[in-house]
Amino acid sequence: MVERKLFGTNGVRGIVNKQLTPEMMLKLSMATGTYFRGTDLTVGCDGRVSGPLFLGTVCAGLASVGCQVWNLGLITTPALQFLTKSCKMKGGVMITASHNPPEYNGMKVMGNHGVELPHEEELRIERIYFKEKWSRAEWNRVKEPLLVSEKFGGYFDSIMHNMGGPPRRNLKVLVDAANGVSALSTPTIVEKLGGKASLVNGEIDGTFPGRLPEPNAYNLRHTSRILPNLHVDFGVAHDGDGDRAVFLDERGSVCWGDHTFALVVRDFLEHGSGSRKVVTPISSSQIIEMMAEQYGGEVIYTAVGSVFVSNVMLKLNAMLGGEDNGGVFYSPHVPARDGGITTAMIYRIISESRSPLSKLVADLPRSYIVKDKIPCPDALKARVAESIRNLPNRGKVLNLDGIKMWLPSHSWILIRPSGTEPIVRISVEAPTKGRALKIANEYKSKLSRIIRDSKRHVVQ
Ligand code: MG
Repeated sequence: MVERKLFGTNGVRGIVNKQLTPEMMLKLSMATGTYFRGTDLTVGCDGRVSGPLFLGTVCAGLASVGCQVWNLGLITTPALQFLTKSCKMKGGVMITASHNPPEYNGMKVMGNHGVELPHEEELRIERIYFKEKWSRAEWNRVKEPLLVSEKFGGYFDSIMHNMGGPPRRNLKVLVDAANGVSALSTPTIVEKLGGKASLVNGEIDGTFPGRLPEPNAYNLRHTSRILPNLHVDFGVAHDGDGDRAVFLDERGSVCWGDHTFALVVRDFLEHGSGSRKVVTPISSSQIIEMMAEQYGGEVIYTAVGSVFVSNVMLKLNAMLGGEDNGGVFYSPHVPARDGGITTAMIYRIISESRSPLSKLVADLPRSYIVKDKIPCPDALKARVAESIRNLPNRGKVLNLDGIKMWLPSHSWILIRPSGTEPIVRISVEAPTKGRALKIANEYKSKLSRIIRDSKRHVVQ
């Protein structure tokens, strides 16, 4: 398999003016425009400091190879993805580093469905980039980028349309926008649903003065602390570009993404029509599978990463997808992870229920995931993976992204050699934390033995 050099798991990322220079972004956008054969493309950026710099650079690069650029300016990634699809563009470019720290920026390239290109297509852009084979336009074929000012209207309409009628109760919601572009959209979504939004970290500021943009429990500790005093029904926290949504219950506790996704899966299977396939990465909690089993759905597993979820949804015509890091994919809107529609879905579920979010989550089946890792030299990873595949196991095994083995008593283990570090990652899920830890330790010992034997074999 040919390795990609610029694109990572989710677009191109780098520190501004170190790995990510204007020259590099110019060439990358010329390569991207050449790949799209000079057609109509959307371009937008999130609120990072270098956003305007790269917005100008990318618009220039695309226009120079004959593309008609629709410049959306400051926008969330899912709104750009929605517009790319609904306005029948050939593709789109989002300038963002998503949840990375402030010094980073990057670029995601979408196809005509609004979904990030599959990795093999990114590789084609890289080939054009490294061979510098761009198709520059004749001087009189260079098109002026069109500035789009009204950009969220259709996106809001689509979310409201997909929510059906107005929710039963009006709720109060605390929106933590991470000083990112969700400040432009999520409060409006809450208000359109009949609710009242209060904002924290609501000023768009690429230095991220309120908190780091990744919505994890540590970064959300301040939001967690202030939430109970605001007497809201729930809180929602986004990453920098608004495709992720992590929820806090009415007491300020941060909910696990798989728990809120399980609530969405149940609601979808109970009330939705059409495809009953639920697409989710192989690392997701078995609670999703339990919900699907109980309500007549089917879980389809993918490799880990939102790009895989989106592309499998497109291929299978599936309507619903989700990831444990916070975000639902809903095809009738856009088959991409969208923190905006995820907020609307959780709003509706709480509004229709007599229980608060803490109770809805507490009533889900009990299950625990523990994660661990052990050092493993890169050179041994293939041999170690082969030995893991040969481990005796009587349950189901899936070799999709690492090796996932289903074990007795509602447990599983996922063993994945890291693509970027000299380690092997282990995830275990079981009905109790004690059992999950026991399985993790047992397999850690087995893996250590396999790695030791592999080293000895290589030395001999
Ligand atoms: Mg993101």
